[in-house]
Amino acid sequence: KKFTDYPLSEEIVRALSSLGYETPTEVQSEVIPVVLEKKDLVAKSQTGSGKTASYGIPLCELVDWNENKPQAVVLTPTRELALQVTEDITNIGRFKRIKATALYGKSPFHIQKAELKQRTHVVVGTPGRVLDHIERGSLSLDRMAYLVIDEADEMLNMGFIEQVQSIIQALPTDRVTMLFSATFPEDVEGLSRQYMNNPVEIEI
Ligand code: AMP
Repeated sequence: KKFTDYPLSEEIVRALSSLGYETPTEVQSEVIPVVLEKKDLVAKSQTGSGKTASYGIPLCELVDWNENKPQAVVLTPTRELALQVTEDITNIGRFKRIKATALYGKSPFHIQKAELKQRTHVVVGTPGRVLDHIERGSLSLDRMAYLVIDEADEMLNMGFIEQVQSIIQALPTDRVTMLFSATFPEDVEGLSRQYMNNPVEIEI
């Protein structure tokens, strides 16, 4: 399979080719069509498998550039991963001029708040800081149509369960939810049971 076999716009395919991505990885070939059909999914996958682009590609395809409010939120356990995902989404969405904003702690709130006042399509962040922005009114949720919970097991190991639940409960229920995790302990299973609709299960 090639990226041109999927219903992806020319801007996205061109960005992938400029990144040197010629063929989808295994996780990408499984995840991309499911997300493009707007189905919830749970994927068991490791870092290094190309999982970031597996959700980054369909997200960049699906978000509407003209919408002023953010449409997708990606939750990550660490600041490092938030920055990496933000960079990857920026690269994939380059020719569609998709704007991704990273939100993480120990960095000035007011700078992130100013960034959120500009048009941003995708926010990527750690649960504590994302919740802070929600509670302080700087992150609008009413147009959020996509939620990605990345490295869910790591996130819960770090004690973020309550923040993750509060964020999910604040989101519109009419959305697509994707959960990625290397392992599936009970608390991760619980998240998918509680907040997802018949998710497609993908194991690589
Ligand atoms: P990840 O698993 O998301 O951390 O990605 C691992 C690495 O694979 C990153 O350096 C990506 O830039 C790269 N990558 C992702 N998708 C592809 C692809 N389809 N072809 C080549 N490299 C890729």
